[in-house]
Amino acid sequence: MKISEILAHSQRPFPSIEIVPPLKGISKDELLASVAPFMDFHPPYINVTCHRDEIEYRPSGDGRYTRHAVRRRISETAVCAVIQSHFDTEVVPHLIGAGMTREQMECQLQDLKFMGIENVLALRGDCLAGEKRFTPEPGGYRYASELVEDIRRFEQSQNASFCIGVGAYPEKHFEAPNPEMDIENLKRKVDAGADYIITQMFFDNAVFYAFRDKCRAAGIAVPIIPGLKPLSTARQVQTLPEAFSLDIPLELASEIRRHAEDKAACYEIGTRWCAAQCADLLAHDVPAVHFYTMGRADNVVTILRECF
Ligand code: FAD
Repeated sequence: MKISEILAHSQRPFPSIEIVPPLKGISKDELLASVAPFMDFHPPYINVTCHRDEIEYRPSGDGRYTRHAVRRRISETAVCAVIQSHFDTEVVPHLIGAGMTREQMECQLQDLKFMGIENVLALRGDCLAGEKRFTPEPGGYRYASELVEDIRRFEQSQNASFCIGVGAYPEKHFEAPNPEMDIENLKRKVDAGADYIITQMFFDNAVFYAFRDKCRAAGIAVPIIPGLKPLSTARQVQTLPEAFSLDIPLELASEIRRHAEDKAACYEIGTRWCAAQCADLLAHDVPAVHFYTMGRADNVVTILRECF
């Protein structure tokens, strides 16, 4: 079933879960065991992130270096196949334009169609480590809106049909010159054919509500699903803002700093904060709440038990 149909017919907000494909070496059973705790809460779909190959330069022995593409994780397609065959849930593979030519993307879409997958999250992806500015592959995708257009073109030529989600940034994407232009660009993705939006994580719900109001004022009418991640370590007070260009509210950051030496206390503080955010969102007319699990189940399961 398409996520757009699930959103249209759901009587109440539901949890959606995002997982990261495991590193190579993890077995299929270990993957399934890591997903199983979420299934008690009947998430109608599981998102599976996509990771572009890393580039390594290795000495070739003659004083030169050769370039190698390194893939550290199992592909999102393989993870989706395993989840889809084992659990009664839809899967939503993330598709990233970064590092892909249009021909490669078409092959990927053919595989998904073959697998009966009807849902994708279309993203641009990021620079490679060490790159200053995003550079598309020759003939590839500069923006996610181009990928959305391409998926819609693929549907027409291949008699396929996908529900397409896209990403958005309540605190602005770090490359956008200002929030207004970022929302204009988000609207381009919707106008190109995106069916719904999932936001980047945020830790202050007021930021999300203001963003949602601005989107509606800009004419974006599709469902907007807030994304949450429970803060789980003291280090994340520094690393999450660096990695995702977001703010951690003073109250949360100070509380974590006060308990920085106590890992269990930090975990508990982050879980409590996220549970309160989730409960407040559910009282403010959201269609679903999306959880970035990032390899940890316990804290998200605690929140799901309390809120859903
Ligand atoms: P775009 O929508 O293309 O936006 C990128 C920038 O370009 C923005 O600043 C935007 O304002 C600007 N822009 C867009 N269109 C135009 C235009 N026409 N003219 C000028 N400027 C424009 N990354 C991964 O690698 N793998 C994942 O699995 C993954 N999952 C994610 C899931 C969610 C829900 C979210 C929110 C993000 C995810 N990301 C993932 C991160 C994402 O790839 C990065 O944030 C990336 O930098 C931007 O992707 P985008 O699709 O939002 O890009």
